[in-house]
Amino acid sequence: MPAQPLRALYALAPHLLLLAGASLAAVRPLPASLAGLWLYGPWAALLVAALVAGAFGRGRAVFAVAAIAAAYAAYRYIIEPGGDLLARRAAFAAVTIFLPAYLGLLAVLEERGVMNRHALVRLAPIALAAAGLAWAVRERRTATVDWLFTPMVDAPLASLAPLPQAAVAAIFIAFAAALAMALVRGQAIEGGLAVAVATMAIAAHGVRDAAMFPVFTIAACAALTLAVLQDSYRMAFRDELTGLAGRRALNDRLKGLGRRYVIAMVDIDHFKGFNDTYGHDVGDDVLRMVAARLATVSGGGKVFRYGGEEFTVLFPGRSAEEAMPHLEALRAGIQSHRMAIRGAGRPAKDRVGRKQRGAAQAARTVAVTVSIGVAERSERHPLPEEVITAADKALYRAKRGGRNRVSR
Ligand code: GH3
Ligand code: MG
Ligand code: MG
Repeated sequence: MPAQPLRALYALAPHLLLLAGASLAAVRPLPASLAGLWLYGPWAALLVAALVAGAFGRGRAVFAVAAIAAAYAAYRYIIEPGGDLLARRAAFAAVTIFLPAYLGLLAVLEERGVMNRHALVRLAPIALAAAGLAWAVRERRTATVDWLFTPMVDAPLASLAPLPQAAVAAIFIAFAAALAMALVRGQAIEGGLAVAVATMAIAAHGVRDAAMFPVFTIAACAALTLAVLQDSYRMAFRDELTGLAGRRALNDRLKGLGRRYVIAMVDIDHFKGFNDTYGHDVGDDVLRMVAARLATVSGGGKVFRYGGEEFTVLFPGRSAEEAMPHLEALRAGIQSHRMAIRGAGRPAKDRVGRKQRGAAQAARTVAVTVSIGVAERSERHPLPEEVITAADKALYRAKRGGRNRVSR
């Protein structure tokens, strides 16, 4: 299940809306005067998608666009003009069986960028499919192509005419796989790939209607472009480890504040000790736990990872007086949370291990506390940077006062 359901929803929702919008566009036929749009629209959409994906270094999106471009070329130059039936059937099989399978595969693979040796391996299937298509047509492999269209099972629903059954299977498996990866990883690109599978399937299914293939090719490109932008935005403004908004997002937010706000600086107590005692992995777990607890802040607080083991809670439109109880609740919540640790009872040094073995059971959870420094905007500190400095000073007082406390 998704690590963060809301994040998965955020990643998926725009794509599902886009799918719905494209479906509407296809159901309502376009006026004939706009027909020229469908001739150049898909090429323009493919170009934009490729440029955006390339500029952000998103390899899987680049390869997906390349495969969709190949499929659109097959439609435009082989399937649509009519003529050689074998060539058209072979191209249609490639567009409906190979393309969804390839897009589904991209959704499952890890991102590896564009300009490297992985790129050649990932582009190879497209070249192979094109070569296979050329070979089947040149060698007049009618039997091979017929075989691709052979029904595998005798069920009315499995034959979504005119798609071959093998295509229906490829489409459903690829769509489900991409959707599952979108939910697991919480990234937009897998959602974009799932929608690309769906839109290209609809395109192929409506192949006899002149507007369908172009409209749904554009929709697939739009989904992939949007996904690249969503993921790039998230990478720039979200902190990878904790999923919280990052420093850049905080700096942006500070520029738009009014005359009343509170800034709280949160610092984990003796955090270096967690790293030194249990290792960096447990240190990272502590960071994630504290981030998750902070994210539940009430009173309209916004949480950011300031850097390292420091966090910022911003309360727009509030006074320090009003923010204090919400911060106190955060401090108390973190203190009372029993955090289970990985590898407890397996200290690095055996001698230490023997000494601790008796207490190992008890040491499986650790107590984490935070200190919080609070400052509000005032005539004395009119600028956000000054309020942060004041909050830092308050934090220092909280540390000196014995830690695990909120100071103003
Ligand atoms: P106190 O704040 O209570 O005075 O003690 P402290 O030990 O928390 O203080 P300090 O700020 O000196 O220590 C911060 C440590 O946080 C230093 C660094 O090893 C660790 N750290 C910073 N960022 C990360 C991170 O992303 N992951 C992990 N595992 N450790 C980090
Ligand atoms: Mg610190
Ligand atoms: Mg600290």
